Amino acid sequence: METRAVLFEGRRLEYVLERKNVKNINLRVRAGGIYASASRRVPAAAVDRFVLSRAAYILAAKDRLEAVQRAAPPPHAYEPGEVFTVQGRDYALAVVPGTRDSAYIAGGLLVLRMRDPADRARRERLALGFMEKQCQAVFGAMLDRLYPALEAMGAPRPTLRFRNMRSRWGVCHVKSAVITLNKRLLPMDPALGEYVVTHELCHLIVPDHSPRFYALLEGLLPDWKARRAALSAAPSHWP
Ligand SMILES: [Zn+2]
Repeated sequence: METRAVLFEGRRLEYVLERKNVKNINLRVRAGGIYASASRRVPAAAVDRFVLSRAAYILAAKDRLEAVQRAAPPPHAYEPGEVFTVQGRDYALAVVPGTRDSAYIAGGLLVLRMRDPADRARRERLALGFMEKQCQAVFGAMLDRLYPALEAMGAPRPTLRFRNMRSRWGVCHVKSAVITLNKRLLPMDPALGEYVVTHELCHLIVPDHSPRFYALLEGLLPDWKARRAALSAAPSHWP
């Protein structure tokens, strides 16, 4: 491993060169930096030239990654006053004593009512449990609104499941009519979840991404491209 740098339009572009038994020069842009791999036969200067030839793309990808990281809030500590976002709305965490444990939203607050408000691990479990239930409530209601248009075309009513995923917003298992949504959609504006749910619902009619699929999606959601762009720019975190 060797750290090298090239200059592109006045910007210093540092990258890590790894020697591996690979056929071509491979390039990866990660949150941690830029990584190139090449076999020992390729001179370092040739890798530099290759990186330079892809510099515009690398810098755009790097800027995008950094923007998402900047926008993502730090992980929750489940301390009173912390902000939790559900469907684009912010709720401050309030912890109050009570005779039994419960969590609910009231007047701009996410309230945790607890026998032992000092129990931090319990605060986290309560808040996370509440967010899990919110997924079902929010996206269940969304499905109720969006499904009838697809039902009219013969789509079966899907079952919703939720997972915290790193690289996908939704998955549609057509045979079993199960749509799995990324939990990270819960904090986001409802327009973004609607785009994902509509996309996955369309797969119940057209399983692939053929022109017929996009014609169907376009008919149901004419601004889907703008929503997709907003989704890829949105900070992604759970909860
Ligand atoms: Zn798809």
